[in-house]
Amino acid sequence: MQNGVEENILSSVWIKAEAERLGFSACGFAKAQPVDEGHRQFFHDWVQRGLHADMTYLERNMDKRSNPACLVEDCRTIISVALNYFPKTFIPAHQPQISWYAYGRDYHEVMKEKLQALLGTIQKQYSDANVTGRCFCDTAPIFERYWAWQCGLGWIGRNKQLIIPHAGSTYFLGEIFLNQQVDQYGIPMNDHCGNCMRCIEHCPTDALTLHKGLDARKCLSYLTIENRGEIPVEAASKMHPYVYGCDRCQQVCPYLKFAVPTHEKDFSPTSELLSMDWSSWKELTQESYQRVFKGSAVKRAKYPGLQRNVHALSIAEKRDDDTFNMDES
Ligand code: SF4
Ligand code: SF4
Repeated sequence: MQNGVEENILSSVWIKAEAERLGFSACGFAKAQPVDEGHRQFFHDWVQRGLHADMTYLERNMDKRSNPACLVEDCRTIISVALNYFPKTFIPAHQPQISWYAYGRDYHEVMKEKLQALLGTIQKQYSDANVTGRCFCDTAPIFERYWAWQCGLGWIGRNKQLIIPHAGSTYFLGEIFLNQQVDQYGIPMNDHCGNCMRCIEHCPTDALTLHKGLDARKCLSYLTIENRGEIPVEAASKMHPYVYGCDRCQQVCPYLKFAVPTHEKDFSPTSELLSMDWSSWKELTQESYQRVFKGSAVKRAKYPGLQRNVHALSIAEKRDDDTFNMDES
Protein backbone atom coordinates (compact mmCIF):
# COMPACT_ATOMS: atom_id res chain seq x y z
CA MET A 1 0.00 0.00 0.00
CA GLN A 2 1.16 3.54 -0.79
CA ASN A 3 -0.89 6.42 0.69
CA GLY A 4 -3.73 3.97 1.26
CA VAL A 5 -3.83 3.00 -2.45
CA GLU A 6 -3.27 -0.57 -3.64
CA GLU A 7 0.04 -0.70 -5.52
CA ASN A 8 0.74 -2.26 -8.88
CA ILE A 9 4.05 -3.96 -9.41
CA LEU A 10 5.11 -3.17 -12.96
CA SER A 11 6.56 -5.81 -15.24
CA SER A 12 10.26 -5.25 -15.84
CA VAL A 13 10.19 -7.58 -18.85
CA TRP A 14 7.39 -5.59 -20.49
CA ILE A 15 9.13 -2.25 -19.87
CA LYS A 16 12.41 -3.62 -21.26
CA ALA A 17 10.62 -4.80 -24.40
CA GLU A 18 9.07 -1.34 -24.83
CA ALA A 19 12.48 0.29 -24.32
CA GLU A 20 13.94 -1.94 -27.02
CA ARG A 21 11.04 -1.12 -29.34
CA LEU A 22 11.82 2.58 -28.87
CA GLY A 23 15.44 2.02 -29.89
CA PHE A 24 17.23 1.75 -26.55
CA SER A 25 20.08 -0.76 -26.45
CA ALA A 26 19.75 -1.48 -22.74
CA CYS A 27 17.28 -0.88 -19.95
CA GLY A 28 17.46 -1.75 -16.26
CA PHE A 29 15.94 -0.96 -12.88
CA ALA A 30 17.26 0.05 -9.46
CA LYS A 31 15.44 0.67 -6.22
CA ALA A 32 15.43 4.36 -5.38
CA GLN A 33 17.64 4.57 -2.34
CA PRO A 34 20.52 6.79 -1.22
CA VAL A 35 23.74 6.52 -3.20
CA ASP A 36 26.46 4.29 -1.70
CA GLU A 37 28.60 6.18 0.79
CA GLY A 38 31.78 5.12 -1.04
CA HIS A 39 30.61 6.57 -4.34
CA ARG A 40 29.36 9.75 -2.69
CA GLN A 41 32.64 10.21 -0.81
CA PHE A 42 34.74 9.64 -3.94
CA PHE A 43 32.80 12.36 -5.75
CA HIS A 44 33.05 14.70 -2.75
CA ASP A 45 36.85 14.22 -2.60
CA TRP A 46 37.13 14.63 -6.37
CA VAL A 47 35.41 18.00 -6.19
CA GLN A 48 37.42 19.02 -3.11
CA ARG A 49 40.63 18.38 -5.06
CA GLY A 50 39.39 20.73 -7.79
CA LEU A 51 39.47 17.98 -10.43
CA HIS A 52 36.10 19.18 -11.75
CA ALA A 53 37.84 22.33 -13.14
CA ASP A 54 35.40 25.23 -13.57
CA MET A 55 32.25 23.08 -13.58
CA THR A 56 31.07 24.73 -10.37
CA TYR A 57 27.55 23.34 -10.80
CA LEU A 58 29.05 20.02 -9.65
CA GLU A 59 29.69 21.59 -6.24
CA ARG A 60 25.99 22.21 -5.69
CA ASN A 61 22.97 20.01 -4.95
CA MET A 62 24.91 17.23 -3.25
CA ASP A 63 21.72 16.27 -1.36
CA LYS A 64 19.79 15.75 -4.61
CA ARG A 65 22.73 13.97 -6.20
CA SER A 66 23.03 11.61 -3.24
CA ASN A 67 19.40 10.69 -2.79
CA PRO A 68 16.74 10.30 -5.52
CA ALA A 69 14.02 11.17 -2.99
CA CYS A 70 15.48 14.68 -2.67
CA LEU A 71 14.97 15.15 -6.41
CA VAL A 72 11.64 13.35 -6.87
CA GLU A 73 9.86 12.87 -3.58
CA ASP A 74 7.77 9.80 -4.40
CA CYS A 75 10.43 8.04 -6.49
CA ARG A 76 10.41 4.26 -5.94
CA THR A 77 12.32 3.03 -8.99
CA ILE A 78 15.02 4.36 -11.26
CA ILE A 79 14.86 3.18 -14.84
CA SER A 80 18.18 3.59 -16.63
CA VAL A 81 18.39 3.33 -20.41
CA ALA A 82 21.26 3.45 -22.90
CA LEU A 83 21.09 4.81 -26.45
CA ASN A 84 23.80 3.83 -28.93
CA TYR A 85 25.67 6.58 -30.80
CA PHE A 86 28.48 4.55 -32.38
CA PRO A 87 28.66 6.08 -35.87
CA LYS A 88 27.67 4.33 -39.06
CA THR A 89 29.64 6.85 -41.11
CA PHE A 90 32.82 8.50 -39.89
CA ILE A 91 34.39 11.84 -40.65
CA PRO A 92 37.32 10.92 -42.95
CA ALA A 93 40.52 10.40 -40.95
CA HIS A 94 42.48 13.09 -42.81
CA GLN A 95 39.98 15.79 -41.74
CA PRO A 96 39.59 17.52 -38.37
CA GLN A 97 37.62 15.33 -35.99
CA ILE A 98 34.82 15.95 -33.54
CA SER A 99 33.71 13.52 -30.84
CA TRP A 100 31.46 10.76 -32.14
CA TYR A 101 28.69 11.65 -29.72
CA ALA A 102 28.28 15.05 -31.39
CA TYR A 103 28.00 13.83 -35.00
CA GLY A 104 24.22 14.20 -35.24
CA ARG A 105 21.27 15.86 -33.58
CA ASP A 106 21.66 16.98 -29.96
CA TYR A 107 21.25 13.81 -27.88
CA HIS A 108 19.42 15.68 -25.12
CA GLU A 109 16.51 16.21 -27.49
CA VAL A 110 16.53 12.70 -28.93
CA MET A 111 16.78 11.12 -25.49
CA LYS A 112 14.07 13.36 -24.03
CA GLU A 113 11.60 12.34 -26.74
CA LYS A 114 12.34 8.65 -26.27
CA LEU A 115 12.17 8.81 -22.46
CA GLN A 116 8.84 10.65 -22.63
CA ALA A 117 7.58 8.03 -25.06
CA LEU A 118 8.67 5.24 -22.71
CA LEU A 119 7.03 6.91 -19.72
CA GLY A 120 3.88 7.51 -21.77
CA THR A 121 3.61 3.90 -22.84
CA ILE A 122 4.07 2.71 -19.23
CA GLN A 123 1.32 5.08 -18.09
CA LYS A 124 -0.97 3.78 -20.82
CA GLN A 125 -0.28 0.14 -20.00
CA TYR A 126 -0.86 0.73 -16.27
CA SER A 127 -3.60 3.32 -16.60
CA ASP A 128 -5.18 2.33 -13.28
CA ALA A 129 -1.94 2.75 -11.31
CA ASN A 130 -1.47 6.53 -11.30
CA VAL A 131 2.02 6.18 -12.75
CA THR A 132 4.05 9.36 -12.58
CA GLY A 133 7.70 9.92 -13.36
CA ARG A 134 10.33 12.42 -14.39
CA CYS A 135 12.74 11.98 -17.27
CA PHE A 136 16.38 13.05 -17.17
CA CYS A 137 19.35 13.09 -19.51
CA ASP A 138 22.17 15.30 -18.27
CA THR A 139 19.47 17.63 -17.01
CA ALA A 140 19.64 17.25 -13.21
CA PRO A 141 22.20 16.48 -10.50
CA ILE A 142 22.21 12.71 -10.93
CA PHE A 143 25.04 10.18 -10.88
CA GLU A 144 23.94 8.77 -14.23
CA ARG A 145 26.67 6.17 -14.64
CA TYR A 146 26.28 5.08 -11.03
CA TRP A 147 22.56 4.41 -11.57
CA ALA A 148 23.22 2.61 -14.85
CA TRP A 149 25.65 0.42 -12.92
CA GLN A 150 23.14 -0.10 -10.09
CA CYS A 151 20.55 -1.09 -12.70
CA GLY A 152 22.90 -3.81 -13.94
CA LEU A 153 23.58 -2.27 -17.37
CA GLY A 154 27.36 -2.43 -17.10
CA TRP A 155 30.30 -1.17 -15.05
CA ILE A 156 32.11 2.15 -14.84
CA GLY A 157 35.43 1.67 -16.61
CA ARG A 158 38.76 3.36 -15.86
CA ASN A 159 37.94 5.76 -18.70
CA LYS A 160 34.92 6.83 -16.58
CA GLN A 161 32.46 5.60 -19.21
CA LEU A 162 29.76 3.05 -18.60
CA ILE A 163 30.87 -0.12 -20.36
CA ILE A 164 28.14 -2.50 -21.43
CA PRO A 165 29.42 -6.05 -21.85
CA HIS A 166 29.35 -7.21 -25.48
CA ALA A 167 28.26 -3.72 -26.52
CA GLY A 168 31.01 -1.21 -25.61
CA SER A 169 30.77 2.28 -24.17
CA THR A 170 29.37 4.56 -26.89
CA TYR A 171 26.01 5.19 -25.23
CA PHE A 172 24.01 8.12 -23.98
CA LEU A 173 22.37 7.46 -20.66
CA GLY A 174 18.93 8.56 -19.56
CA GLU A 175 16.75 7.95 -16.53
CA ILE A 176 13.12 7.87 -15.51
CA PHE A 177 12.48 8.41 -11.80
CA LEU A 178 9.25 6.46 -11.35
CA ASN A 179 6.72 6.42 -8.50
CA GLN A 180 6.08 2.66 -8.86
CA GLN A 181 7.91 -0.56 -8.14
CA VAL A 182 8.86 -3.17 -10.71
CA ASP A 183 8.95 -6.93 -10.25
CA GLN A 184 12.69 -7.33 -10.76
CA TYR A 185 15.65 -5.07 -10.07
CA GLY A 186 19.14 -5.20 -11.54
CA ILE A 187 22.30 -6.36 -9.81
CA PRO A 188 25.34 -4.06 -10.00
CA MET A 189 27.90 -5.62 -12.30
CA ASN A 190 31.46 -6.49 -11.35
CA ASP A 191 34.24 -4.44 -12.92
CA HIS A 192 35.73 -6.19 -15.95
CA CYS A 193 38.62 -3.80 -16.64
CA GLY A 194 40.93 -6.35 -15.02
CA ASN A 195 44.60 -5.50 -15.52
CA CYS A 196 43.93 -3.33 -18.54
CA MET A 197 45.28 0.26 -18.36
CA ARG A 198 44.95 1.20 -22.01
CA CYS A 199 42.75 4.25 -21.50
CA ILE A 200 45.10 5.63 -18.82
CA GLU A 201 48.21 4.91 -20.90
CA HIS A 202 46.79 6.41 -24.11
CA CYS A 203 45.26 9.57 -22.71
CA PRO A 204 47.38 12.24 -24.44
CA THR A 205 47.24 14.69 -21.54
CA ASP A 206 47.49 12.27 -18.58
CA ALA A 207 44.01 13.30 -17.50
CA LEU A 208 43.14 9.79 -16.29
CA THR A 209 44.64 8.27 -13.17
CA LEU A 210 44.01 4.97 -11.49
CA HIS A 211 42.93 6.21 -8.07
CA LYS A 212 41.84 9.81 -8.57
CA GLY A 213 39.83 9.26 -11.74
CA LEU A 214 39.54 12.01 -14.32
CA ASP A 215 41.27 15.36 -13.97
CA ALA A 216 38.92 17.56 -16.01
CA ARG A 217 41.48 20.38 -15.96
CA LYS A 218 43.65 18.28 -18.29
CA CYS A 219 40.93 16.53 -20.29
CA LEU A 220 40.57 17.69 -23.89
CA SER A 221 36.84 17.00 -23.82
CA TYR A 222 36.44 19.49 -21.01
CA LEU A 223 38.98 21.97 -22.38
CA THR A 224 37.40 22.12 -25.85
CA ILE A 225 33.73 21.99 -24.83
CA GLU A 226 32.80 23.12 -21.31
CA ASN A 227 35.79 25.37 -20.73
CA ARG A 228 35.18 29.04 -21.47
CA GLY A 229 38.81 30.12 -21.06
CA GLU A 230 41.95 29.54 -23.09
CA ILE A 231 43.30 26.06 -23.78
CA PRO A 232 46.71 25.64 -22.13
CA VAL A 233 49.49 25.35 -24.72
CA GLU A 234 50.59 21.95 -23.42
CA ALA A 235 47.08 20.51 -23.83
CA ALA A 236 46.56 22.26 -27.19
CA SER A 237 49.66 20.51 -28.52
CA LYS A 238 47.84 17.17 -27.95
CA MET A 239 44.58 18.10 -29.62
CA HIS A 240 45.33 17.03 -33.18
CA PRO A 241 43.23 15.72 -34.95
CA TYR A 242 40.35 16.83 -32.68
CA VAL A 243 38.83 20.25 -33.01
CA TYR A 244 35.98 19.41 -30.61
CA GLY A 245 36.11 16.81 -27.82
CA CYS A 246 38.25 13.68 -27.74
CA ASP A 247 37.41 9.97 -28.02
CA ARG A 248 40.81 8.42 -27.49
CA CYS A 249 40.09 6.77 -24.13
CA GLN A 250 37.11 5.05 -25.72
CA GLN A 251 38.86 4.20 -28.97
CA VAL A 252 41.65 2.28 -27.25
CA CYS A 253 39.29 0.36 -24.97
CA PRO A 254 39.21 -3.32 -25.94
CA TYR A 255 35.45 -3.37 -25.38
CA LEU A 256 34.97 -1.02 -28.33
CA LYS A 257 35.25 -4.06 -30.58
CA PHE A 258 31.68 -4.93 -29.53
CA ALA A 259 30.27 -1.60 -30.71
CA VAL A 260 27.80 -1.76 -33.59
CA PRO A 261 26.61 1.22 -35.66
CA THR A 262 23.61 3.05 -34.26
CA HIS A 263 20.20 2.64 -35.91
CA GLU A 264 19.28 6.16 -34.81
CA LYS A 265 19.00 8.26 -37.96
CA ASP A 266 19.16 11.46 -35.90
CA PHE A 267 22.77 10.64 -34.98
CA SER A 268 24.00 10.52 -38.58
CA PRO A 269 26.34 13.35 -39.57
CA THR A 270 25.20 15.65 -42.37
CA SER A 271 27.10 15.57 -45.65
CA GLU A 272 28.23 19.12 -44.92
CA LEU A 273 29.82 18.07 -41.61
CA LEU A 274 31.44 15.05 -43.28
CA SER A 275 33.02 17.29 -45.87
CA MET A 276 34.52 19.87 -43.49
CA ASP A 277 38.23 20.04 -44.16
CA TRP A 278 40.78 22.16 -42.35
CA SER A 279 40.10 25.25 -44.44
CA SER A 280 36.32 24.96 -43.75
CA TRP A 281 37.03 24.93 -40.03
CA LYS A 282 39.38 27.88 -40.27
CA GLU A 283 36.88 29.86 -42.30
CA LEU A 284 33.82 28.93 -40.28
CA THR A 285 31.69 32.06 -39.95
CA GLN A 286 28.95 32.65 -37.42
CA GLU A 287 26.46 32.13 -40.23
CA SER A 288 27.90 28.81 -41.42
CA TYR A 289 28.27 27.69 -37.79
CA GLN A 290 24.53 28.28 -37.28
CA ARG A 291 23.74 26.28 -40.41
CA VAL A 292 26.13 23.32 -39.98
CA PHE A 293 25.50 22.87 -36.26
CA LYS A 294 21.80 23.66 -36.12
CA GLY A 295 20.32 21.38 -33.43
CA SER A 296 23.73 19.84 -32.70
CA ALA A 297 25.39 19.21 -29.32
CA VAL A 298 28.46 20.97 -30.76
CA LYS A 299 26.69 24.21 -29.88
CA ARG A 300 27.59 23.51 -26.27
CA ALA A 301 31.02 24.97 -27.08
CA LYS A 302 29.40 28.00 -28.78
CA TYR A 303 30.88 29.76 -31.79
CA PRO A 304 33.67 31.58 -29.89
CA GLY A 305 34.61 28.25 -28.26
CA LEU A 306 34.95 26.53 -31.63
CA GLN A 307 36.98 29.44 -32.97
CA ARG A 308 39.23 29.18 -29.93
CA ASN A 309 39.69 25.43 -30.57
CA VAL A 310 40.61 26.01 -34.22
CA HIS A 311 43.01 28.76 -33.22
CA ALA A 312 44.62 26.61 -30.47
CA LEU A 313 45.04 23.73 -32.89
CA SER A 314 46.52 25.93 -35.57
CA ILE A 315 49.00 27.55 -33.20
CA ALA A 316 50.04 24.28 -31.59
CA GLU A 317 50.45 22.51 -34.90
CA LYS A 318 51.57 25.59 -36.82
CA ARG A 319 48.77 24.72 -39.25
CA ASP A 320 48.56 27.85 -41.31
CA ASP A 321 48.18 25.94 -44.54
CA ASP A 322 45.18 23.96 -45.77
CA THR A 323 46.50 20.51 -44.95
CA PHE A 324 45.34 18.40 -42.09
CA ASN A 325 46.79 14.98 -42.27
CA MET A 326 46.99 12.45 -39.47
CA ASP A 327 50.37 11.37 -40.79
CA GLU A 328 51.85 14.79 -40.16
CA SER A 329 51.58 14.65 -36.38
S1 SF4 B 1 38.66 12.39 -23.44
FE1 SF4 B 1 40.79 12.45 -24.21
S2 SF4 B 1 41.86 13.86 -22.85
FE2 SF4 B 1 39.93 13.29 -21.83
S3 SF4 B 1 40.47 11.54 -20.53
FE3 SF4 B 1 39.77 10.69 -22.49
S4 SF4 B 1 41.66 10.45 -23.70
FE4 SF4 B 1 42.13 11.82 -22.01
S1 SF4 C 1 40.62 0.71 -21.75
FE1 SF4 C 1 40.84 -1.00 -20.31
S2 SF4 C 1 40.96 -0.01 -18.30
FE2 SF4 C 1 40.14 1.49 -19.72
S3 SF4 C 1 37.94 1.32 -19.54
FE3 SF4 C 1 38.57 -0.02 -21.23
S4 SF4 C 1 38.86 -2.03 -20.29
FE4 SF4 C 1 38.82 -0.54 -18.63
